Amino acid sequence: MGKRYETVIGLEVHVELSTRTKIFCGCPAAFGGAPNSHTCPVCMGMPGALPVLNRQVVEYAIAVGLATDCAITECCQFDRKNYFYPDNPKAYQISQLYLPICQNGGIEIETAEGKKRIGIHEIHMEEDAGKLVHDEEENVSAVDYNRAGVPLLEIVSEQDLRSAEETVAYLEKLRLIIQYLGASDCKMNEGSMRADVNLSVREAGTEELGTRTEMKNLNSFRAVSRAIAAERDRQIGLLEAGKKVVQETRRWDDRKECSFSMRSKEDAKDYRYFPEPDLPPVIISERWIADVRRRQPELRGEKMARYQKEFGLPAYDAQLLTGDKAFADLFEATVEICGRPKRVSNWIMVEVSRLLKEHGMAPDEIRFSPENFAKLIVLADTGSITNTVAKEAFELVFLEDADPERYVKERGLATVNDEGALRAAADTVLAENPQSVKDYLGGKERALGFLVGQTMKAMRGKANPALVKAILLELLHEETE
Ligand SMILES: [Zn+2]
Repeated sequence: MGKRYETVIGLEVHVELSTRTKIFCGCPAAFGGAPNSHTCPVCMGMPGALPVLNRQVVEYAIAVGLATDCAITECCQFDRKNYFYPDNPKAYQISQLYLPICQNGGIEIETAEGKKRIGIHEIHMEEDAGKLVHDEEENVSAVDYNRAGVPLLEIVSEQDLRSAEETVAYLEKLRLIIQYLGASDCKMNEGSMRADVNLSVREAGTEELGTRTEMKNLNSFRAVSRAIAAERDRQIGLLEAGKKVVQETRRWDDRKECSFSMRSKEDAKDYRYFPEPDLPPVIISERWIADVRRRQPELRGEKMARYQKEFGLPAYDAQLLTGDKAFADLFEATVEICGRPKRVSNWIMVEVSRLLKEHGMAPDEIRFSPENFAKLIVLADTGSITNTVAKEAFELVFLEDADPERYVKERGLATVNDEGALRAAADTVLAENPQSVKDYLGGKERALGFLVGQTMKAMRGKANPALVKAILLELLHEETE
């Protein structure tokens, strides 16, 4: 390859909002449920049924818009996007084309070259479609309309991204903002956050954009990264061979690690958009915006500063804990119960992170309660159990939300601080290991470690190691006298 190329990427991110009901009817918006059990004439698109806008959807859109530095459109409206597909019972989707609710925003991401602002062109509200279920054995397709009418925000970035790393950083930042706002749980594996990537390449140093393709519904950060790398290489390959990139929509197959052409890219005109006649424009007053702004929860930056100020945590801890809302929630709930913020932070950063990794789980899959977590930290921190026992007990807290106090009691794992018992064990160990005693007295410090280990073993790990060491030293010095 002689020429150098630059990759130009834009993202359309769909986020399912955490409202109780759907966007235009009173059906539950919850994930799951028996097929077609969350439906009514409105979301089934029956003739004559009329939509009523869910106020909470507008408030979430305003909240996300404010947190991403967007201007809120004073008078926004819905438009009809017409297309036929079996998962869409009305044969049109209610969306926003001409006057989206939020415009001209942006968020800052960290890149290898420092901070970079990624522009947000617009955010609009729309309804989700149903879901087709293909049964290959019976050779039929069934349709489930539970998801039809679930509220979505579509967040459209500017073409400001230049690499897979930047794209993932942008997605992570966006997800964190929306999770902190409580507007969506943003679970990519459950489809509550999905990304469409559009990408083109151009010769480095040129201004004109190349022809772009779009890859739909990528459902993990890994898929986004891999799809970008593969599509970039495919387009450069075409250009190097003197061929043209065709503007089209492609489907990424993460298993095969390549994309396939789905259809040529449609333009807005193909959808025959027109203003939705069944819904009046939405007027958003200054007062309403101020109201949403006032109720805005604490976002990551503010939380990070507060953790350092209020709890005296190092910047590193504050950054790590606020990097995932599940960690921040666990931290705050636990400290509320048992105090000891630095201990709690250490437990989350070390043991919780280790077990999550070991079980291939994400932080939002944590199932144990802050109550049992706090009990465990107190047991370990007051020396009531040894570190070994604490780690062992935590595995059960982590997996089954076990009560660590009961666990320690039932198994008799509380640390033995009874000097008489420890002295007896230490005496036996010294008598059984004359060579080590001799080594220690001859100046080999390491022999003491061995003797401590043997005594701990004799106490089945339940002894307080500092006390064991002190008793051994005392006994050894008696020997020299
Ligand atoms: Zn409905």
